[in-house]
Amino acid sequence: MYLVKIFNSISGIEGDGIFAGEPIPKGTIVFYYSNDDIYVSKKEFKSLPDLKKQQVYKLGVEAENGDWIVTDGDANHSCDANILSLFVDGLYCDIAVKDIQIGEEITIDYGLFYSSFPWQMKCRCHSNNCRGVFGSAIAVDFQAQQLWNSRISEAVDRIHHVSQPLFSRDDESAKVLTLALRSKHSPRIFPYIKFSMICAYPDNGDEIMR
Ligand SMILES: [Zn+2]
Repeated sequence: MYLVKIFNSISGIEGDGIFAGEPIPKGTIVFYYSNDDIYVSKKEFKSLPDLKKQQVYKLGVEAENGDWIVTDGDANHSCDANILSLFVDGLYCDIAVKDIQIGEEITIDYGLFYSSFPWQMKCRCHSNNCRGVFGSAIAVDFQAQQLWNSRISEAVDRIHHVSQPLFSRDDESAKVLTLALRSKHSPRIFPYIKFSMICAYPDNGDEIMR
């Protein structure tokens, strides 16, 4: 579920995209899996008709156990994405890694996603650092990882300095993620070799209370 106002419109990258309906400062947690998102088990997924499967592919994210989570928006890929994936104590969220202006397309780097099957796509992001192709069948190069890590580190440093809509939500997943974020004093970023799982750990166990 998106925590910021978004709207769907024609993308400059491909097909439909999602766009910021309000200014989003760097460091804002923009997305998390809420109790309202739809969970499709690996077994259920296998029994779906092809058309439904395609919808799940389009709007869903596959977890490592083969289950799928289908949510309320589908950001296009960009090699110069303005949001990136972050795992906090194993909990998934997306964080704004740039200040996003109202009306700007929200983009994420699909290179960070887990997938149990190999796929690749030609990239049309037109950014200066475009990798040309992306997908789970493509090894993510060192430069891309460095870019993710530096951007995520900077954004994580802003988490407790910007307004977080997440912190005032009262569903169970939001509460757990809020607690995880508030218990991090100085998050360290750990790149995974592929599908970068990025975790934040406390360096001294201090609690941040705000
Ligand atoms: Zn690209």
